Amino acid sequence: MRFTKTLSFAIVATYLIAAAPAYSQTATSSRTRTHVETLASAKFEGRLTGSPGEKLAADYLIAELKKMGARPLPGTTDFRMPFTFTAGSKDGGSKMTVAKTGADGWNFGGSANILALSFSDTGEASGAVVFAGYGLVVPDTQNFGYDSYAGLDVKDKIVVVLRYFPEDADQKTRGILARYADLRYKAQAARQRGAKGMIVVTGPRSPNAGAVVPMTFDTAIAGSGLVAASISGDAAAPIFAAAGKQLEAVQKELDSGNPHVAGFAIPGLTITLNANVIRQQQTGHNVVGYLPATTATTGVNKPWISVGAHYDHLGRGGAGTSLAEKQNANEIHHGADDNASGTATVLAIAEAMSKQPRKRNLLVAFWSGEELGLLGSNAFVTKPPVPNDQLAAYLNFDMVGRVNDNKLTVQATGTSATWPKLLEQANVAAGFDLTLQEDPYQPTDVSSFNGVSVPSLAFFTGAHTEYHKPSDTADKINYEDLDRVGELAVAIVKRLMDTADAPLFTKVEQKMDTGGRTGLRLFTGTIPDYATDVKGLLLGGVIGGGPAEQAGLAKGDVIIEIAGQSITNIYDYTYALELLKIGQPAKVVYLRGGQKRETTLTPAARK
Ligand SMILES: [Zn+2]
Repeated sequence: MRFTKTLSFAIVATYLIAAAPAYSQTATSSRTRTHVETLASAKFEGRLTGSPGEKLAADYLIAELKKMGARPLPGTTDFRMPFTFTAGSKDGGSKMTVAKTGADGWNFGGSANILALSFSDTGEASGAVVFAGYGLVVPDTQNFGYDSYAGLDVKDKIVVVLRYFPEDADQKTRGILARYADLRYKAQAARQRGAKGMIVVTGPRSPNAGAVVPMTFDTAIAGSGLVAASISGDAAAPIFAAAGKQLEAVQKELDSGNPHVAGFAIPGLTITLNANVIRQQQTGHNVVGYLPATTATTGVNKPWISVGAHYDHLGRGGAGTSLAEKQNANEIHHGADDNASGTATVLAIAEAMSKQPRKRNLLVAFWSGEELGLLGSNAFVTKPPVPNDQLAAYLNFDMVGRVNDNKLTVQATGTSATWPKLLEQANVAAGFDLTLQEDPYQPTDVSSFNGVSVPSLAFFTGAHTEYHKPSDTADKINYEDLDRVGELAVAIVKRLMDTADAPLFTKVEQKMDTGGRTGLRLFTGTIPDYATDVKGLLLGGVIGGGPAEQAGLAKGDVIIEIAGQSITNIYDYTYALELLKIGQPAKVVYLRGGQKRETTLTPAARK
C-alpha cells in the first residue's frame, strides 16, 4: 500500500458485521508462514520493482504456481508479464543564462542553484521575464477570486513564480489557495497563458527558504509541455534586482493574501532556460497465471474470477515512500505485512481452489509496481490479456497479516450490491468482526479494477507503526489469523464460482477531489488508522521524532479537534492540515482512553 502520497484514503459509509459467537480453528496446516518468511527474507532485498529481489520473488511465485498446476494466461507463454515505467528522473545539467540590455549577462548552473522540475520538458526556452507572484489561479467555480496572472502578459515569456502560497493569509484563504499550489498545477496555469518557461523560487519567508525544489520520485509520464526549473535564492536575487526590487519585500506584500497585489514584468532581461531531465526507464514484472475451469464455461456469465496481491515493496527505501527513521533509512524494507502477507494469502487461495471443482477460470495475479503507483495492475487492465468485462469479480489482498482483536476490514464493498450479503454468509464460518467500507478508491490495486468496472473487494487488517519501515518483518505476522483471511476468501470465491450469474457492478462516486493534495507541504508525523471506524482521527501510530510524537500523541489516541477545526473523519483532518502553518503551534484536542486531553503540535516542513 502507499498512503503517504494519497492522504485522501477515506472511510465512507462504514458499518460493522459482528462475529458469530465462535469460530472454527484453522482446518489445514498452512504454508503461508513459509511464503511470508521467504518473500520477506533479506535475500529478496525488499522486492523493489525492477530489481534482482523482484526477480527472485517472481521466480518463487512461478515455482509455486507450477506446483499447483496453474498455467500462463491464454495467448501467453510466460507467467512473467513485463511492463515498463519511469523509475525516476534526475537533472542532467540544467542551466539558466540571463542577458541584460546594455550590460553583461550572467549564467547559473550546478544543482545547488538550478534543478529542473521532475515534470519539465527537456529543452530550451528563451524570452522576456515576468514575475507572476505565487503563480496561483483559483478556478472560477470556486467563487473565490485569485489569479496571479490578472493584468499580466506572459505570452512567449519566462514566468518566475514563488513556491507554495501566501504565508500570512487568513485560514480560509490558505485553505483554498493550498489546493492550487501544486507545482504541476502552477505549470499548467503558466502554459495555458502562453508562457514558454517557468522558474520557481522558494521565497525567503517560506519553509525551505531559498532552496531549489528536490526532484521528486515521480513515476507519472512527463509532458507538462513546459520547460520548468527551480532556482536558488542566490540565483533569483539579481533577477529581482534588475527590477529594482528585493525578493523578501516582494514576498511580504504577496503574503497578506490580498488578491490585488500584482506581479510585474522585469524589464531589460532575457532569460534562456535549459532544462535537462533524464528519465530512467525500467521494466517491472507482474506474475500472472490461471487455474482453468474444471467444467465447460458455456452458459456461465463472465467466466473469470481474479484474486490478486502486489508482491513488490520498497527495496531499501530510497526514493520511495519509506517512513524509516534516519538511522536505518537504507536498510532492507522487508515488507512482511506489505505485502508478503497478501501474496501468501493469494497463493493459499489458489492452492485450495486447485483442488476444488471450478465453474470459472481462476486468474491468479501478483502485481509489481504497486508501491510506485499501482503500475503493474494498471498496465494489466490497460492491455488486458483477459477482457475486463469477462471478470466476474476481483479480490485484492494488501496488508492482511496483522489481524488484531479478530478485526478485518473489507473495502470497495460499494462496487456491487452482491457484496454485503455474500460477505456475511461467507463469514459465518470464519467469524471475523468485519468492517465494510464501500469506497473503492483505495491506495492499492483494487482501484485499477474498480476503474474498469469490475466488482471488487479489498481485504486489509489495518495500518501499524511498522508500516513502510525496515521493521515490517515476518515475526510480527499473525499467521493463524492470516490463514483465516485466506479461508474466508476461499469461501467467497467458491460462492462466486458456483453460480452462473456474475455480480453486477455499481459505480461508486469519488467523494472528494484529490487534486492538489500532493502539494501538502507540512509534516505532522501522524499515522492515521484507516481501518477502524471511529468519530475523529484514530492514530495507528506516530512517526518517531516527528511533531506528533513530540506533542505526546501516541497510537490509540483519537484526534477530535485541531487548530479550532473539529475532526470527525480523515477528510476533515486533511483539510485542517492545509490550514496549519509550519512552525506555528496548533492546539490539538484528543481522546485517550475515553478521556479528553489537550496538547500542542508544531508542524514541520515536508521536504
Ligand atoms: Zn506499501
